[in-house]
Amino acid sequence: MGEILVDCDILVVGGGIAGLSLASALAGRTGVLVAEAEPTLGFHTSSRSARQLIPSYGPAVVQDLTVRTLALIRALEVHLPDPVLKARSFLLVGSEETVRDRASGHMHPIPPAQMMALAPELKPECFPAAGLDTTSVGCDTDVLMEYHRRRILDRGGRILTGSPVRSARFEPGADDAGRWITEAGEEIIASRVVVNAAGAWADQLAALYSARPRGLQPYRRTAAVVDVEHPLSENAPMVADADETFYYRAEGRQVLISPSESVPSEPMDARPRSGDVEALVELVNSVTTLGITGVVRSWTGLRTQTADGLPVVGYDDVVPGFFWLAGQGGYGFQTSSGIAELAAAMLLDGTPDSSAAEALSPARTGL
Ligand SMILES: Cc1cc2nc3c(=O)[nH]c(=O)nc-3n(C[C@H](O)[C@H](O)[C@H](O)COP(=O)(O)OP(=O)(O)OC[C@H]3O[C@@H](n4cnc5c(N)ncnc54)[C@H](O)[C@@H]3O)c2cc1C
Repeated sequence: MGEILVDCDILVVGGGIAGLSLASALAGRTGVLVAEAEPTLGFHTSSRSARQLIPSYGPAVVQDLTVRTLALIRALEVHLPDPVLKARSFLLVGSEETVRDRASGHMHPIPPAQMMALAPELKPECFPAAGLDTTSVGCDTDVLMEYHRRRILDRGGRILTGSPVRSARFEPGADDAGRWITEAGEEIIASRVVVNAAGAWADQLAALYSARPRGLQPYRRTAAVVDVEHPLSENAPMVADADETFYYRAEGRQVLISPSESVPSEPMDARPRSGDVEALVELVNSVTTLGITGVVRSWTGLRTQTADGLPVVGYDDVVPGFFWLAGQGGYGFQTSSGIAELAAAMLLDGTPDSSAAEALSPARTGL
């Protein structure tokens, strides 16, 4: 490694929604630097989501973090010319049993007549039961990420793109202190803490810092925007099948659809597989009257999860100054500000006494 060019308190590796939200929460409170491998921010999973925040989706701790994230985004929206959030409820359809299994404080069962009033394109014989989450909203993820980017820079933080982290070494200091020396692209960065917000590459990044992998597995998920004969109304809910075989929502006069697949993958720039979108179009056309006429564009992203399905947030229990911010799975946007708030408190004020911190700890049993 060459000469040290950059010094900071906290180096965040990964410029997706996770890394940007945390750096934005830290900026102005400590010296923060984001290193992103790709030439643009949000290149991987964070530019490939369905852009919906669903408080009834996920385990209890995820639901709590989603509610907190919604409150934090509503508070930041007042500083922006355009809103980040858009009212769009979430309608879950399926058998009585599968819908009942997903009922929670935010999701309540509704009668079939109400389901048809909300989503008249559904073929009622296909879906005997439905549940509705009226607290769910759409999210302009581009505006949200730009807000965080701007806030980091305005408060003296730095962002390096095209700077893949390739190697690192720990330099011990006096009194248990020490610092990480990280090679990121052309830069050599010295930092007290390194945050692992590397998404699908989180376990690989951990290996560079000699941290034990946490079994973070990327899973493929595809989506497409399609033309339809019968567009959805502007305030139509997002509709998802409780067996996770499809979901769809309005995208202007077009419709965004997904097969909701979870297929294991290596970390990579994932692309749709031949036949996947065609099979989905056939399925959606068979259970709705949308009448899909063509595919405008399609993409695939990787949702990275641990074995217990919860994110990993907190200091590594063995490696000094190495902090995990990974495994957000399908909840990365809906938990982003809540997790950033929690992580910033851990990094700046010590470990907060919270049940969320315990539930997400990298030292929890089973990881
Ligand atoms: C089809 C689909 C639909 C989804 N829908 C939703 C939704 O509606 N709501 C929701 O909340 N979530 C949704 N998600 C999930 C959400 O998109 C993710 O949880 C979130 O984007 C993950 O963000 P991240 O920052 O952890 O990862 P990423 O966005 O992948 O960012 C990680 C970054 O780390 C960088 N990196 C990796 N290794 C290095 C290295 N060595 N050096 C430097 N940089 C490195 C990568 O280049 C990458 O940019 C969806 C996902 C998919 C695929």
